[in-house]
Amino acid sequence: MLRKSIAGLPDYVSDSTPERIAKAAGLAKLTRLSFNENPVGTSPKVQEAIANWTFSQARSYPDPDAMPLRTAVAGRLQVPADQLLFSSGLDEMIALICRTFLDVGDESLQPWPTYPEYQLQAAIAGAVTVNAPVDDATGRIDLQALLTGITAKTKVIWLCNPNNPTGTYLQVSEIAEFMAQVPAEILVVVDEAYIDFVDQVPNPSVLSLITKFANLLVMRTFSKLYGLANFRVGFSIVPKTLIPKMQNVRLPYNISGLSQTAALAAWKDVAFTQKVKRQLFAARQQWTAFFDHHHIRHYATQTNFMLYQVAQPQALGAFLKQHGYLVRDSMVPGWIRQSFGTPEQDAEVQGLLLDFLKTTSPLAK
Ligand SMILES: *Cc1c(COP(=O)(O)O)cnc(C)c1O
Repeated sequence: MLRKSIAGLPDYVSDSTPERIAKAAGLAKLTRLSFNENPVGTSPKVQEAIANWTFSQARSYPDPDAMPLRTAVAGRLQVPADQLLFSSGLDEMIALICRTFLDVGDESLQPWPTYPEYQLQAAIAGAVTVNAPVDDATGRIDLQALLTGITAKTKVIWLCNPNNPTGTYLQVSEIAEFMAQVPAEILVVVDEAYIDFVDQVPNPSVLSLITKFANLLVMRTFSKLYGLANFRVGFSIVPKTLIPKMQNVRLPYNISGLSQTAALAAWKDVAFTQKVKRQLFAARQQWTAFFDHHHIRHYATQTNFMLYQVAQPQALGAFLKQHGYLVRDSMVPGWIRQSFGTPEQDAEVQGLLLDFLKTTSPLAK
């Protein structure tokens, strides 16, 4: 009964909720540092906008063009409004890209490790994913390895920048040089879910390249910087020639009116996002100093999370969970991916980490 590409997939495993996981483990509370959620929360302007949402609109289908949001995003990013595509989070965008561009037997090319949804959605479409390992010493995406991985079957290349889970960032000039060597028939998707967290680079986004390369698609999300993960809003800047078909593949009413309203309010509250960034930069600096001081191997991160190496990641994951914190202990073998929390949470986790490392085998160097 199942399509061949679906039959070969692993069965679904739910991530559940912190509340249900805590209840099952008999814990009073559990903080999720495994989803890269925003520890500051969400702009109060969003709460206000939701409270003022006209309830009588509930019976009507939402605006299929998300026009006020589209206009605001296009204006600030200086991109043509008709090249924007909105989706129910970037996860839907990734599925939409795969449904639009991948046939059974095609190849999708990505660094490894990277965001797992690319491979899953490509597999659902029936495509094979080819992995180009990141540089082990630095965790950086190996663009040369990606170029080498291109074959006649390659249709889509995924570049997560900064990369989840390694946290590393590629300069725009490096991506431009890479694009110049990629055949024009291959779509290059740059996932900029964490681009707002890049520090000390004046213009970190590849948006400046969209007029130069007609095969470049850039993805952004409201889930991380804007603290709006629950509302499921993401968008892409899509090449002009590709957007009419992509819009047709998209489900027509994929963003609810309430989500459009929330996203617009979040987009406009620049003071709030600046506060989020200030707190994040401080946390990142503090965590980096902590790992350096204790000689814990980690990659240089430009995101709101960090990937670090320990001898017993699963045991550490279980220990932290027992003490109320969820981290990713099996995304990359031998490594932990952990989001930065509030200063109080971070201080507690650092204490727990040191306790754990004292009582177990020495650190992996
Ligand atoms: C969180 C994340 C997304 C997905 O975000 P949603 O918009 O919430 O679906 C996409 N890409 C990367 C790299 C992410 O880490």
